[in-house]
Amino acid sequence: MKRIFLGIAVFAVLFSVGLFLSPKEDTHIRAVKRSQIALGTVIEIQVRHPDREKADEAISQAFAEIRRVEAQFTRQDSQSPIGRINRSETTSFSISPEIYDLMKQSEAFWRRTSGAFDASLGAVIDLWGFSRGQGAVPAASQLVKALKHSGWHHVRLEEGYLVRRTAAVQFDFGAIAKGYAVDRAVAVLNRYGMADALVNAGGEIRSTGGTWLIGIAHPRKKGEMLRRLNLQNMAVATSGDYEQYFEKNGKRYHHILDPRTGWPAEGCQSVTVLAADDTTADALATGLFVLGAEKAMRLVQGTPGVHALVVDRNGGIHISPGFKAYLTD
Ligand code: AMP
Ligand code: MG
Repeated sequence: MKRIFLGIAVFAVLFSVGLFLSPKEDTHIRAVKRSQIALGTVIEIQVRHPDREKADEAISQAFAEIRRVEAQFTRQDSQSPIGRINRSETTSFSISPEIYDLMKQSEAFWRRTSGAFDASLGAVIDLWGFSRGQGAVPAASQLVKALKHSGWHHVRLEEGYLVRRTAAVQFDFGAIAKGYAVDRAVAVLNRYGMADALVNAGGEIRSTGGTWLIGIAHPRKKGEMLRRLNLQNMAVATSGDYEQYFEKNGKRYHHILDPRTGWPAEGCQSVTVLAADDTTADALATGLFVLGAEKAMRLVQGTPGVHALVVDRNGGIHISPGFKAYLTD
């Protein structure tokens, strides 16, 4: 039963996030392409390399790395490192350098986005039920309670790979772990000599080598592309209110939450971020979505190497100057 449900969920992700990919036509080597389900989505890896066997081996290792990252950061599994912290009543934990590092990065993104990206929102996220496929509007009193146990100001990272929390904070790395897993997978492909590759984790993408053509999904027209861009040695991530949502009394409730209120953020329909690495692109796509179009564009303009395309709540499109260079049309 669980399997069937996952199948449906993945189908929905594929066709709603729907970034459309194709290798450029002028390449003479056909891409080896494989996909697997991990991190709650479809992971697709493509490699252009003359030796099919070597490419296959590298792709297998990259998938293994993605599964390793998933096992570290998932909170669906109560035995995973993050699952254990979330379940525990202790306030201080010794964590691995890898988890410490992603927490450090999460803290930096929390600061950079004035708290809009917040990887300590688990208690609030649980109330909305999106990950269980049972979205429902929580009672206001429950939200108030959950908000008391949310917010990175409750978290302290200390020397010696220690994390402390002052409330029963529930960590949730759903807005950054896919991007991080993509970066790790690209590192593995590189190590195996695959210098022309693309990894796509449900819309969080990074490419190396030659040019790859990427389509940005239209947030309101299913199956249609809003814009296309040429990606070369870059990462791109999209956060949208059309990925996981339900409607009640004509109103859309989606999975990207405003940490100040605990309610779905209302400023945007979708945000696409270009950056050198996918950890950054993923975290900022979520954070900028929460900030809304105006603040998002201001933040991007002050951040070298980061570009964005924002579709605001009315469908208006805002494109940062740096982003334009990557558009094909
Ligand atoms: P993304 O699709 O990358 O925008 O990530 C969305 C996921 O991140 C949600 O399903 C939640 O698990 C989590 N999330 C929701 N709101 C936030 C937020 N404001 N900051 C950080 N993570 C969030
Ligand atoms: Mg994200």
